[in-house]
Amino acid sequence: MLMNERVIEKLGILADAAKYDVSCSSSGSNRKNEKKGLGNSSGMGICHAYTEDGRCVSLLKILLTNHCIYDCAYCVSRKSNDVKRAAFTVQEVVDLTINFYRRNYIEGLFLSSGIFTNADYTMERLVLIARKLRTEHNFHGYIHLKAIPGASEELVRQAGLYADRLSMNVEMPTEKSLQLLAPDKRRSDMLQPMLYLKKAIVENREEKKLFRHAPLFAPAGQSTQMVIGATPESDWQILHIADQFYKKLQLKRVYYSGYVPISNDNRLPAIGTPVPMVRENRLYQADWLIRFYDFEVQELVSAADPLLDMEIDPKLAWALRNTGMFPIDINKADLFLIKRIPGIGIQTANKIVSARRFRKLTWEHLKKLGIAINRARYFITCNSLDFERKEHDPSKIRQMILSDSTSKYRPNFSPQISLF
Ligand code: SF4
Repeated sequence: MLMNERVIEKLGILADAAKYDVSCSSSGSNRKNEKKGLGNSSGMGICHAYTEDGRCVSLLKILLTNHCIYDCAYCVSRKSNDVKRAAFTVQEVVDLTINFYRRNYIEGLFLSSGIFTNADYTMERLVLIARKLRTEHNFHGYIHLKAIPGASEELVRQAGLYADRLSMNVEMPTEKSLQLLAPDKRRSDMLQPMLYLKKAIVENREEKKLFRHAPLFAPAGQSTQMVIGATPESDWQILHIADQFYKKLQLKRVYYSGYVPISNDNRLPAIGTPVPMVRENRLYQADWLIRFYDFEVQELVSAADPLLDMEIDPKLAWALRNTGMFPIDINKADLFLIKRIPGIGIQTANKIVSARRFRKLTWEHLKKLGIAINRARYFITCNSLDFERKEHDPSKIRQMILSDSTSKYRPNFSPQISLF
C-alpha cells in the first residue's frame, strides 16, 4: 500500500512529537502467533533503532494526535505551544502499522496521544486501533498503549485486552511539581488507573494458571515515566518514588526522561540548559541495582546525601563509601555480596558461584569468567591473595579507577539510527 502525502506529513509531525516519550522498551511479553496471524512479539529487549537524538523507536512510535486540551509546561504538544498540529484517523494508524510491519520496519506499535475533546474520547480511539489490529488483522506484534489520565476504568480494561503493555505517565515526580507545571492534571487521575491495572494484571496471571485459554491482559505489565531535571526533586526523592511504584504497583519499568528545555517559561530551566543525560543514565543504573542487585534506595542515596555521583556509577560509589566491607573472598562470599562487587554483574556472579563448587577459583579463572578486573581488583581476594590491592584509601582507589578506565565511566549511549 502506498502512503499518501498527507499521511507522510502527519507521520513526520506525530513521530517527532512522540520522541519525548522514552518508555518504549518492549521487554517481557511473549505473545505467540499460533495460527496464521501477522507478527510475533518475542521475549526480551526488542529495541533496534533510535531517533536522531538517541531515543529508542524500534516500534512504530507515534502520537495519534498532538492536539491537546491541556497546557503542561514541559510538553511540546501543550495547547499554548505554536507547533504544527496533526491527527491520524484510527484507520490511518492501523494501515501504517500493518504497512510498516509488512515492510519489516517495525515489530510493533507504541501509541500515545495528546488529549483531544476529553480523556475518554481519546482513549476510545487508542483502544479501537489496538482492537482493529488484533481482531481484524490478526496482528500478533507488540502493542504498547499509553493510558490517558482521567480515562474511565472500563476503557483502561479494554485497552488491557489488546495491548501487551500499558503505561500511564506520572510525568512529574511529585504532586507539588505536577500542580506547578500541569495544573489541569491531578495525580490521582494517574494513580487510580495504575492501581486498577495492577489488580487486573495480577488477577489475569492467576486466571491464566487455572485456565490456559483465558484471554491475555497486558501481559507485559505496566510502566510509567518521570521527567527529570524540570523540577528540583533530588535523585533520592525520584528513586524513592520509583521504588514505591515497583513495590506497591508492581510496575515493570520506571523510565526517567531528562527534561529537554523547550520554552522560556520561568517555572522551567531555560532553553539552552543542557539535557541531564548523565543524570538520566545514573538513575537507570541505580534503578537497575534496586531491582536486580538487592540494593535499597537508602544505600545509594539518602536525605543527607541526596544526589548520585555523576562521575562514577552508583555501585562503585556505594563500594567506596563502604570499604570496611571489603575485600570480599570470592571463593567464600554468598551471591548477595558477590553481586555487590564493582566490576561483577549478575551473570558473572552466578557463574562464579557455580564454578567454585568444583574448584577454588584463581585470578585466571575470574578473568575468563569475564569480571572487570580493573575495578573488581580493589574489592576482592581470591585464594587468599589480594590482586594489586595495595591501596585502601577510597579517594585514591576512585582516582586510580577513573584514570585507568575513563571511557568506561562516560555515559555510553546507543548508536543513533533513524527510522524516520
Ligand atoms: S496532557 Fe499530555 S500531551 Fe497534553 S500537554 Fe500534557 S503532557 Fe502534553
